[in-house]
Amino acid sequence: MDLKAHIRGIPDFPKPGILFYDISTLLRHGPAWKEAMRRLAEIVRPYRPTVLAGIESRGFLVAAPLALELGLGFVMLRKRGKLPGAIIGLNYALEYGTDRIEMQADAVRPGDRVVVLDDLLATGGTLAACINLLRQAGAEVPGAASLIELTFLKGRDRLGGTAFDALIAYD
Ligand code: 5GP
Repeated sequence: MDLKAHIRGIPDFPKPGILFYDISTLLRHGPAWKEAMRRLAEIVRPYRPTVLAGIESRGFLVAAPLALELGLGFVMLRKRGKLPGAIIGLNYALEYGTDRIEMQADAVRPGDRVVVLDDLLATGGTLAACINLLRQAGAEVPGAASLIELTFLKGRDRLGGTAFDALIAYD
């Protein structure tokens, strides 16, 4: 199945000049979504994860069904201020300004092997911050994966020893 045929490029979103790759069309198509999850399960299984983490918010739509499929738990990596209770977080640089990713302090334990999922890898800044946060919490992060990779931005080079795969590439 050609998964790329189920992704739609939307010009000028969220700002003029940006081509946004919309995964809604893939999620809307049952067989395509299922095939994407099947392929990601094949990528993720060899890392022998103890838990999967998803990056807010479209990463939840990848990580949660995959965790169910693999019989694993699921952890949320969220934007600032969204999670209750004791939180740990990490600030990271954007093109203009900074952002912050957070998770609950007891979400992972030393010895956990976490695979991180998102919908799309662009510069890699978001995923790199998530990997660093999980490592600070004592987890190993052997791998990460996404539906889409913008390969020309070389985001995977920023992941510091964490292997990365994507199902669909734009170069
Ligand atoms: P990065 O930190 O790698 O530059 O940006 C990746 C993050 O931005 C991901 O969490 C992803 O959801 C979001 N993102 C950036 N561009 C796009 C896009 O074209 N389509 C989608 N679906 N997400 C995007």
